[in-house]
Amino acid sequence: MRLTIRLCLTGIALAGIGAAAAAQAAQAVDCPAIAVEVTAESPQDRALVCEGAILARAFFRRHGIAMKHPIRIRLHRSAIEDYAFHIGVYDAAQRRIDLLTPAAAQRLCRLHSPFGLPMDAPLYISFVVHEVAHAIADQNFKVRPSSQVAHEYIAYAAQLAMLPAAQRSEILQRYTVAAFDSIGDMSSTYHALDPSAFGVKVFRHYQSLPDQGVFIRDLLSGAL
Ligand SMILES: [Zn+2]
Repeated sequence: MRLTIRLCLTGIALAGIGAAAAAQAAQAVDCPAIAVEVTAESPQDRALVCEGAILARAFFRRHGIAMKHPIRIRLHRSAIEDYAFHIGVYDAAQRRIDLLTPAAAQRLCRLHSPFGLPMDAPLYISFVVHEVAHAIADQNFKVRPSSQVAHEYIAYAAQLAMLPAAQRSEILQRYTVAAFDSIGDMSSTYHALDPSAFGVKVFRHYQSLPDQGVFIRDLLSGAL
């Protein structure tokens, strides 16, 4: 089966088939207050990435889950090799995130912006949250190989939960899709066909949970 490739994707390479190393002349620097190394050339770009990383960590902390290892994030001013339509990719084997710079993400998403919103700073930060959530989830999965659907569930729940309320309600008004009924209802095919709608269905499910922490921890432990 051939799936339509949409613009503005996010990705995850669980088997370690990540983007090949693209030489970047930038200097590695750390985000203050969090063990994240960002290869960024501009302090503004680095600040946005660090803000997203801190929000992602806060989402997990809220559910009693810790970040266990440092995370490396490599910024790209043009397309990520092998992932030409992606804003970001988490490579599990390399424990590294490849991410477009805000300007490159804006260019990529000019025609088909995710969630139907302009790729402004808060939306860009939310994609940092998404990718860093993949990285922190990967540090905490008890069962290997981890489920791609579980990974995406956690990444989208974190992304939309940590988005400013105004943007989140705009997205929820725009996408009228219902919540997923259960984990069995979520498929990687649906995710590939319409990532934004998948994300909204995940978030509505997450919102409806009586104990969100138990659900996220059960996804990570393999109990679900
Ligand atoms: Zn993802």
